[in-house]
Amino acid sequence: MRAEIGVIGGSGFYSFLDNVTELQVDTPYGAPSDSLFVGELAGRRVAFLPRHGRGHHLPPHRINYRANLWALRSVGVRQVLGPCAVGGLRPEFGPGTLLVPDQLVDRTKTRTQTYFDGVPLPDGSIPNVVHVSLADPYCPVGRGAALKAARGREWEPVDGGTLVVIEGPRFSTRAESVWHAAQGWSVVGMTGHPEAVLARELELCYTSLTLVTDLDAGAESGEGVSHEEVLQVFAANVDRLRAVLFDAVAGLPAESERDCSCAGALGGMEPGIRLP
Ligand SMILES: [Zn+2]
Repeated sequence: MRAEIGVIGGSGFYSFLDNVTELQVDTPYGAPSDSLFVGELAGRRVAFLPRHGRGHHLPPHRINYRANLWALRSVGVRQVLGPCAVGGLRPEFGPGTLLVPDQLVDRTKTRTQTYFDGVPLPDGSIPNVVHVSLADPYCPVGRGAALKAARGREWEPVDGGTLVVIEGPRFSTRAESVWHAAQGWSVVGMTGHPEAVLARELELCYTSLTLVTDLDAGAESGEGVSHEEVLQVFAANVDRLRAVLFDAVAGLPAESERDCSCAGALGGMEPGIRLP
C-alpha cells in the first residue's frame, strides 16, 4: 500500500478519495495522529492524515509531528501539502483569504523539531547532528501548484507572506498580535511548525496552504477571536479548499520529474539513520 503525495489536514478530506484503504502505521517516534487514509485522486496515489486525529482530539502542542511526517514518508510519500487554519495579521487578510506563505517564524515552545537529536532509534542506529537549510522553508514547485490550483477555482490567493506559528492552544493576546503584525508577518497559526522543518529533514517537499478564519486580536477592534468564529469560517470554505487541494495534488510533478532542491536537503550530510 503505497502513496506518492501526502495531505495533512482536516478529516473532511479523505472521504472523497476513490478506493480508500485505512492504514495503521507505527514509527520509531510512536504513533502518528491517526491512521493514514490511502486512495486515488486524479490518478495519483494520495495518503491523507488527519492532523488532529479523527474527532479532533489532539491539540496543536500534542500532535506527534515527527511520527506524522515519518509515517507519510514510510509509505512512499515525497511531496506533502499542509493546509491549516490561521488568523490574519493585516486587515486586508480577512476571513476567507487563502495565503500560500513563503516564510515561517517559529514562536512555539515545547515541540521536538528534529529527527537528528542523537537519541538511538529502536533499531540501534543513532542519528548524527545534522543542520538542514530552512532559508526557504517551502517547496517552490508545490507553492506554484497550490497557487495555480487556487486561481483555477477563482480564488485569488495571496502569493507569499510569513506564517508565524505560536504554541497555542490559546489564541494570542492583543499585545502579542500587535507585535506579530508590527514585524511584518502575515498570518498566525499553531500547526505549521515543526511540520515544515521535519519534512525538510526527511527530504520531502512541503507546501503550506493557509486559510484565514478570523482577524487576529490586534488586527480587529472587536472582542477577539472565538473558537466558534473559526469553525464557522472554516466550514464555509471547506468545500472550496478541498477543491483547491485536489487540483494542487493533480498539479504536482511525478516523482521522476521532481527536480526542486527539497529532495537533496541532506546533500552530503550523513544522517546516521536510514530514512524510511
Ligand atoms: Zn520540493
